[in-house]
Amino acid sequence: MSKKDYYDILGVDKNASKDDIKKAFRQRAKKYHPDLNKDDPQAEEKFKEINEAYQVLSDDEARAKYDRFGHAAFEGATGGAGPFGDFFGDFSDLFDIFGSFTGGSTRRSPTKGPDISTTIDLTFEEAAFGTSKKIKYKRVTDCPKCNGNGAEPGTPIVQCPDCGGTGQIRQEVSSIFGRSVTVRPCPNCRGDGRIAKTPCSNCRGEGRTYVDEEIELDIPAGIDTGNKVIARGKGTKGEYGGPHGDLIVNIRVRPHEYFKRDGADLLLEVPITFAQAALGDEIEVRTLDGIETYKIPSGIQSGETRRIRGKGLPFLKGAGKGDLVLTVKVVTPSKLSNRERELFGELLKIQNPDADPRSPFRKFQDWLKGKD
Ligand SMILES: [Zn+2]
Ligand SMILES: [Zn+2]
Repeated sequence: MSKKDYYDILGVDKNASKDDIKKAFRQRAKKYHPDLNKDDPQAEEKFKEINEAYQVLSDDEARAKYDRFGHAAFEGATGGAGPFGDFFGDFSDLFDIFGSFTGGSTRRSPTKGPDISTTIDLTFEEAAFGTSKKIKYKRVTDCPKCNGNGAEPGTPIVQCPDCGGTGQIRQEVSSIFGRSVTVRPCPNCRGDGRIAKTPCSNCRGEGRTYVDEEIELDIPAGIDTGNKVIARGKGTKGEYGGPHGDLIVNIRVRPHEYFKRDGADLLLEVPITFAQAALGDEIEVRTLDGIETYKIPSGIQSGETRRIRGKGLPFLKGAGKGDLVLTVKVVTPSKLSNRERELFGELLKIQNPDADPRSPFRKFQDWLKGKD
């Protein structure tokens, strides 16, 4: 059987733009849609031809193949059943043309597949700087053996014998109210109208099967626990030719031994001595990507915080970085050398914190003595 040229079927020339092809397809598909041509047995065949031609010519890769090899490009695995072995592959497009006036088709419409959710753990640094992670998971997708068409490779896809290719089973029922017709999707071809003559042994003709997947996922810098990274189209394959759902990756960041974070601010508790707190000092502070020197002002109190601007984590959205927030913690020595004991002893004799009326120490002493 020699097939008609796809360009002739749509009535466009070989250099037609994608838009022209789409326009031509819509015009012809409307004219020959089976639901509008119930009295014309030729219409359905014509409609299938138009759809098949459009599937090829609207797809850049398939069109290029067709231009080089003609119909031979798509023969073999699908037994000449068309490039994708799926008559209603572009149903979503048809649906919005015809959905409004077919009064609801009983052909099952493609539905987007469900999303798959998973969780990954990142180190504090990976979250701060961003990283790329390999993710292994299982999903239902096109069967790799039959490329999703459900037929054992090398065997044809044929018109469903149960429904004659319409995808519908009509049943006339007589009752006291008269005769009525019920229409339901054909269970044999699942409403597809076409069926594999020899079902694929890997997916039993389903066209979909569990497949082990591994993807490389880019994790943006500044991500935090509770954020999600979404890999579009990496979820479960939809039914009846519907698109894949998404892979949703929940992020969990492992705590760091010393750093904490508050959004893009990096928090660090810095222990200092009595003497540093009293006299002030220059200290070195480690950040995520280097060392900062920081001048402790004299008289700083334990628990006070200081910000070093722009030394925190990158903002997840937008440019720039948060701050490094230091919390000073004055540490009491737990073991004293003889010399230290001597000096602290001296201090104890001469130090009079009550002297400065603004000092928290003095205020508290006053309060203790009932002098407020
Ligand atoms: Zn298969
Ligand atoms: Zn059928």
